[in-house]
Amino acid sequence: ATAPLFADLPGDISVSFEFFPPKSEKMEEQLWDAITQLAPLQPSFVSVTYGAGGSTRERTHATVARIVRETSLVPAAHLTCVSASKAEIAEVADQYWEAGVRHLVALRGDPPPADGGTFVPHPQGYTCAADLVAGLMARHDFDISVAAYPEVHPEAASAQSDLDNLKRKLDAGANRAITQFFFSTDAYFRFLDKALAAGISAPILPGIMPVTSFAAIRRMSANTEIPAWMEAMFEGLDDRPGPRALVSAVAAADLCRRLYAGGVRDFHFYTLNKAEQAYAICHLLGLRPKG
Ligand code: FAD
Repeated sequence: ATAPLFADLPGDISVSFEFFPPKSEKMEEQLWDAITQLAPLQPSFVSVTYGAGGSTRERTHATVARIVRETSLVPAAHLTCVSASKAEIAEVADQYWEAGVRHLVALRGDPPPADGGTFVPHPQGYTCAADLVAGLMARHDFDISVAAYPEVHPEAASAQSDLDNLKRKLDAGANRAITQFFFSTDAYFRFLDKALAAGISAPILPGIMPVTSFAAIRRMSANTEIPAWMEAMFEGLDDRPGPRALVSAVAAADLCRRLYAGGVRDFHFYTLNKAEQAYAICHLLGLRPKG
């Protein structure tokens, strides 16, 4: 379908926002500024990441707890299998449940850099996200989201085995998947078709990442296609952060506009704790503050 003009988008979408736990007081202020600015867009949930190697356990928990205390937003706490026994994960899950947190994003996690990039399960821990989902569901009736990879997880033996793995995570009790960022709408729609053919009916929300540094995106994009138009769009902006941020918001909104044309109505934004870009993208999609 031809993508509608921004001006014609009615804003009949629902959004969710991902944040990371702050490391300093200044970053905490930036995060809360972002949460406060984005809250009126009434996200269906806001998620808080868990640092590589489980390094932010306390900070993730504190951030989620503050969202519960001070806002009416639905928080989703990311939780990984890295460097934790099943008993430790059960304890964290119980704490969240007691604090009223019902939505978790269950991940295997990326290994700590000290492990040289290879995931080594904790001797008494979970080996993969599907087992983590099963363990969490056995504990409490959580609403669980999991990760999906339209362009295949870098460690997967094949695209099919990666899709089988996504199905296992959903069959274990997860309710939806959120994708790794991507820039090719074709890659996303092909993946949705394959997922449907594999019997997956759960929503697969596109994870939208505005480009902050094109060089960093290229480094992080192991399997992610970077379309030629994007290369041309960011050409010459490496040392111009201001224009780059503006172009980046428009590029991400344009990606969403094309997803919208293909029927997508739920969008998940990697905000990197910055309100402006996420707000501008939502605005271009026709979303306006409510209440
Ligand atoms: P899994 O689903 O367990 O898959 C890992 C790999 O193992 C895949 O290649 C899969 O195909 C393969 N695999 C699993 N089981 C089997 C099996 N039985 N047979 C064959 N192959 C199998 N990381 C963090 O550290 N903290 C975060 O907060 C965080 N948030 C994220 C949010 C989103 C939306 C996404 C997309 C990723 C996030 N990540 C985060 C990154 C994620 O932890 C890594 O991508 C990690 O390498 C894989 O996690 P997973 O949950 O997809 O793992």
